[in-house]
Order: sequence, then C-alpha cells, then structure tokens
Amino acid sequence: MIRTIDLRGRDLAAEDLTAIVPRAPFDVAAAARVVAPVIDDVAARGADALAEYSERFDHVVPDSFRVPAAAIADAVAGLDPELRAAFEVAIDRRRRVAAAEGGDRSTVVELAPGARVGQRMIPVSRVGLYVPGGLAPLSSSVLMNVVPAQVAGVDRIAVASPPQRDFGGLPHPAVLAVCGLLGVDEVYAVGGAQAIAMFAHGVPGLCERVDLVTGPGNIYVVAAKRLLRGQVGIDAEAGPTEIAVLADDSAEPAHVAADLISQAEHDPLAGAVLITDAPALADSVAAELESRVAAAKHAERIATALGGPQSAMVLVDDLAAGIAVADAYAAEHLEIQTRDAASVAARIRNAGAIFVGAWSPVSLGDYAAGSTHVLPTAGCACHSSGLNVRTFLKAVHVIDYDRSGLAEIADAVVTFAEAEDLPAHGAAVSARFDLALVEGARV
Ligand code: NAD
Repeated sequence: MIRTIDLRGRDLAAEDLTAIVPRAPFDVAAAARVVAPVIDDVAARGADALAEYSERFDHVVPDSFRVPAAAIADAVAGLDPELRAAFEVAIDRRRRVAAAEGGDRSTVVELAPGARVGQRMIPVSRVGLYVPGGLAPLSSSVLMNVVPAQVAGVDRIAVASPPQRDFGGLPHPAVLAVCGLLGVDEVYAVGGAQAIAMFAHGVPGLCERVDLVTGPGNIYVVAAKRLLRGQVGIDAEAGPTEIAVLADDSAEPAHVAADLISQAEHDPLAGAVLITDAPALADSVAAELESRVAAAKHAERIATALGGPQSAMVLVDDLAAGIAVADAYAAEHLEIQTRDAASVAARIRNAGAIFVGAWSPVSLGDYAAGSTHVLPTAGCACHSSGLNVRTFLKAVHVIDYDRSGLAEIADAVVTFAEAEDLPAHGAAVSARFDLALVEGARV
C-alpha cells in the first residue's frame, strides 16, 4: 500500500535528499491554467461568474452568495451542546496562544541623540478568510483563520466557504456556527478559486475587495492564491495536507499508523511519510495500515493518498540521518516519536509545526491544541510560517530624526549617494544644511 525508500548506507547531501523525499504529484502550474480563466471571469463578470462556477464545481447556486444573518444565528442556535463546547474550548486555547504571538507592537531604537527609528506593527484593514468545504466542511479552519485576525486587531473580517448542496447552497452549518460564535457576520457561500478571486478583485454590489487573503485549501485554492499574490496579500501556500513521523524503535506502531491515516483522510493528494531507523517498526506500521485503512470510513481516499508517490516509509541509518530527511522534506506537520523527543525536536529546522512525543498527535493540533492548523505545505516550511497573529500585521518603520541627528549622519548619506551615482539623493540632505547656512548668514 505504501512504498519504501531505503536510504540506509547512502551518504546523501541535503540537495540530494530534497530531490528524493516523497512529494505529491500535483502540479500547481497545471491547476493555475485551470483557474486563471475563472479568476479573470470573476473580475470581469462578478456575481454572474460566481453563479456559473458554483454550478460547475459545487453543483449548487446559492439564493444569495452573502449568507443572511439569520442563517448564521440559526446555525448557532441549532448547535449540539457537546459540539458547541468543543468549539468553545478550541477557540479559547487558540486565542490564549494567539495572545502571545503578536510580539511587541511598537519599538523605538535611539541610534544617537535626535536619531530615532521605531517600528509599528499595524493590522491590515480588511481580510478575506478561506474555509475549505469540498471533501469535508472544515469548521475548525474558521477559528484558525478568525482568531489570529481578531487578536491582531483587523477591523473587517470576511469569510468564504463553498456552498453545500445538502444545505440549500449555504456553507455547512458548523462553519456558520463557528462564524457566529466568533461574531463574524460577513460570510459568503463561495468556494475555490472563485472565492479567492472575489476577495482579491471585489465583486460590485456583493463583496468589497480585501487587503489580505488567508486560509487553507485544495490545489485550486493554492493555485488561485499563487496567481493573485501581489494584487492582494497572501499567506503561505497551505495546500493538501502532509504528515511526517520521525520515529525510532520506541514508537508504538498503532499510534504511528493512526496518525498517518488521520492526515491521509483529508485528500487523495495528502502525503503521509514515516522516517525511521527501525525497520521492524516500519514493518509493524505497514501491517497496522493494512488493517486500519480497510476499516476506515474514507478508505478509498486514504488508500489513494497512502499509495501515491507523495507517501512513503523512509528507512535511514540513524536519527541524525532521519533529522536530515525531515529537514529536506519540510513537512507541514512533523511528529517526533522517539526517545527524548523534545531534544530531537529542538534539532529540527524545517517543519510547519512540530508535535513532540507520543501524546501530541497531529489531530490534536487540527482542532484544539491551541496551535494553528493553517500551515505551509509542499516544502514551503523551509521559508514560510503557519498562520499566526503576525500574518495580519504590517511592520511600519517610523523614522524620526532631528537636525542634530541628521547632521551627524549627513556626510555618510551624501558619500553613499555619490557612490550610487544618485547625487540628487545626497542633495536632499545637504540642501537642508546649505539652506541653514544661508539663513544663518542672513541672520
Ligand atoms: P476546498 O474548499 O479547498 O475546495 C473545494 C473547491 O474547489 C470547490 O468549491 C470548487 O470551487 C473547487 N474545485 C473543485 N474541483 C475543481 C476543478 N476541477 N476545477 C476548479 N475548481 C475546482 O475543499 P477540499 O477540496 O476539501 O480541500 C481542502 C484541502 O485543504 C485539503 O487538501 C486539505 O488537506 C487542505 N487543508 C490544508 C491545511 C493546511 O494548513 N495546509 C489545513 C486544512 C486543510
């Protein structure tokens, strides 16, 4: 069901490992060719284009793309008490962690008397948050998007999620309920690339354009975000999910198998990777996978994900080699199931989120750990972060020099400007002192 990549006895450099680690076969460039006309069409025809693509991709056209306030209130009122309690504890934990993520909002460095440079962290004004709803209605993604935006101080928050045929073209009631619990009332029943285009371009009479789009999604959502980056702010590429488990012979095979399956359940393109120096563990995990997948509700989707080239058991000589593979793979989610897991985790450089030890499964982070589940995929964790409060903040430098502060550094600026053959730059500084001299002479 799942292939094996045997790296034992091979001394591979980091770039060789990067080429060898399993990756999803998906081609964002090909998906971009599919969604580019969708984006252009939404920009040109607005709501008419949304209707056409909702019909084509979601097989339902909502009565109103803007979800009525009453539907959100009804979703909250209709919540099962146990589910409401689960939502509330997840929101509370995410909010408590988010409160620590923003850092110091304003700093000032006094470089010399009269020479101050500060940094203000200013929230973006308006954001569009995407909540997936194709294969599963991810109500958890509502809180993962909304809570850090609220903690950052974003004024205007809009949410979009695909219309559901079974719910009269509204987003799933659980998605609406979490919006209601969080006080978000601008919600759209729009999915996929058309939702990202609606946020980026705006749709007259329906939705004002936003400054920043965030949120996870399938390959079409990822492709749309990549195409629109620049016209609108975009968070990291958070595409089809991945799990890597770095394990030694102390790991429990049933737990490892359950965790691999838990993420394979998301998408046929999901990646599940075991990296281990214990071949016997790999054999036991393979046996566990056989029996557990057969019994799983979404067995077909899981089997496709585990059987795809994006999934593998990677055998290595020792934990140091395993860490090198994990860094080359740069998993969205990385579990460490080894002895002394905390110190192994401390040696990891590239991962969207690291789950330490036997009692921190990825599913905990999907819902209620307090961490984010909107995380970079496809190797992007070597340069990007998961969604957090800082994603919604802009760092703005504030330069505040007085006459003596500028005088002290003026020669350096003029010299620098001359070296770049941009003398007018230097003149903008020296003119202040020339003028002062003239004025001084007059006096
Ligand atoms: P989705 O909402 O992302 O996608 C559904 C939309 O895709 C539909 O509304 C439709 O508009 C569009 N679509 C479907 N087929 C299309 C086609 N042929 N051409 C153009 N557009 C098409 O929901 P999903 O499909 O369930 O995917 C959710 C994804 O989000 C999964 O891959 C999951 O792994 C991922 N995810 C990632 C993270 C992360 O942080 N990386 C977190 C949660 C979920």
